[in-house]
Amino acid sequence: MTDSHCHIHFQSYKEDMEEVIARTQTRGVRMITIGTQTSTSKYGIEVAEAHENMWCSVGLHPSHVHRQTIHEDDQEAFNTRAESFDKDYYRELIKSSSKVVAIGEVGLDFFRLPDIGKEDVMETQLINVHHALELANETDMPVILHVRDAHAEMVEVLKQYTESGRLERRGVVHCFTGTIEEARAYHDIGFYTSFTGIMTFRDKKDPEKLTPLMEVARDVPLEWMLVETDAPYLTPEPNRGKRNEPWMVIHVAEKIAKLKGVTVEEVERITDENANKLFKLA
Ligand SMILES: [Zn+2]
Ligand SMILES: [Zn+2]
Repeated sequence: MTDSHCHIHFQSYKEDMEEVIARTQTRGVRMITIGTQTSTSKYGIEVAEAHENMWCSVGLHPSHVHRQTIHEDDQEAFNTRAESFDKDYYRELIKSSSKVVAIGEVGLDFFRLPDIGKEDVMETQLINVHHALELANETDMPVILHVRDAHAEMVEVLKQYTESGRLERRGVVHCFTGTIEEARAYHDIGFYTSFTGIMTFRDKKDPEKLTPLMEVARDVPLEWMLVETDAPYLTPEPNRGKRNEPWMVIHVAEKIAKLKGVTVEEVERITDENANKLFKLA
C-alpha cells in the first residue's frame, strides 16, 4: 500500500532513517515524503532519489510563511522561519528529479494563528497558496493541500482555478479532519481527501462510540480517499504515544476497512489505485 504523506527525511529519524525505511519497505508500503519549506523540499528529493518505491513533493507549509513557535503533541516545540513560495526555486527542484510527484504541502491553516496580526497572516497565506497553485498549473503537477479551519476559503480558491480549466491534475487535501459536507465540496471539484491516524483516535469518555471523524471516514467513498501517516506526527492506534512510522499506515487502512465493513485488501487496492492515478506513480 501507499503512505501518501510522510516526512521520513525529518529530524525525528536522524538516527535511524534507513532502518525505518527498511521496516516500511519490508511490509510492502510505498512512501511519498513531503517537503514543507525550501530546505526540507530539497533534502526530500535526495532521500527519494536514494530509495525504491519512494517519491517526494516540494512545497511550503502555510505555517512556514510567518514566524511562530509550533507545539506538536509528543514533539519538541520548534520555531518556523518566515519564507515565501519562491516559484523559481520550486520550479528548479521539480525539474531536477522525476521523483518529485507533487507540489505540497501548501495551503491555508487558520487554526494556528498568532494573536497579533491575524489578518496579515491570513493574507500572506493566501498569496503564497496562489503562487503554489500557479506553479502547479504551469508545471502540470497535482497539489497536496494542508487545510485547517479554512475549508470554505480553500474551496473558493480552488474553484477559481478549476472553473477556468486550470489545475488539471487536481490534488488531495491531506490529513482531512472536516465534515462530510466539506469533504464532498472537494470531491465535487475533483480533489481527494486523505485520512491519517487521527481517524483512529477514540473518544476518551466513550471508547466504543464512533467519533465524528470516524463517521466521515466511513461515509467518504473509497474512490475519493487516500491514506497517510503524516509521520512522525499523529501516530495511529494502537501505537499512539510512540513515534509514528510510515508502515503504520496499515492501521489507518484497517480502521477504514472496519468502519466500512469491507476487507483491508479492498481499502489497500483502491487507495493504491487512487495514489497511482493522482501522482502517476509507476
Ligand atoms: Zn499538514
Ligand atoms: Zn505533513
